Amino acid sequence: MKITYIAHSGFLAELEDTLLLFDYYQGDLPELPDGKMLCVFASHRHPDHFNPEVFRLAEERENVYFILSRDIWKSRVPESLQDRTVHLKAGEEWKQGGVTVQTLRSTDEGVAFLVETDGCTLYHAGDLNDWRWDGEPDDWNRTMAEKFRRYIEPLRGRRMDAAFVPLDPRQEKNYALGLDYFLTLSDYRKPENGAEKIYPMHCWDDYGIIERWLLEHPDSPGRERIVKISKRGEIFIQ
Ligand SMILES: [Zn+2]
Repeated sequence: MKITYIAHSGFLAELEDTLLLFDYYQGDLPELPDGKMLCVFASHRHPDHFNPEVFRLAEERENVYFILSRDIWKSRVPESLQDRTVHLKAGEEWKQGGVTVQTLRSTDEGVAFLVETDGCTLYHAGDLNDWRWDGEPDDWNRTMAEKFRRYIEPLRGRRMDAAFVPLDPRQEKNYALGLDYFLTLSDYRKPENGAEKIYPMHCWDDYGIIERWLLEHPDSPGRERIVKISKRGEIFIQ
């Protein structure tokens, strides 16, 4: 599988028969090979996760589907593409060809995606994260942590090929809470467990936050799974 980091939470995964584009909002899209089914995902309507420009991808290809969170207004979808678009809420499933998509509830707006295709499983968190902030009251932060743990529970013990997980420098000392908890959902001392590769995202182009995590987690068994993204357009083969 070939994974291109586009920008922020935007990734393109190229598999044998399928192309998966997640949360594109800006940046250069690589050339998309012909003949493969293209699934375009948007986890929610915030402008750093959804850009209606993605609908232009249907201008030159037939086999394209748009899998959008239900909070993205139907009126944003061009009339001609309505029949190739689904609006999913949390806890739903969608199947097309060899692709199965399940949605998890987010702690922000919209959903997270769990996608199975070409014998691979990919997880894209959208904004499902432990959004605790220093300035918020304790009970607000406690509720956030509880919700996050509940919503992400379906991933416990789950084998994944690639996981795209927020690591947001704006949270300051709380930046790693979501990723650290994600790593407790499987036993990362065992090679076949959990996510084979974890791509930090939602970094606002501050990739030093990945270095910081590695520096502060020298003994984490999940360490080797963390992908060191350093710039937009970077390609990873796994
Ligand atoms: Zn966001």
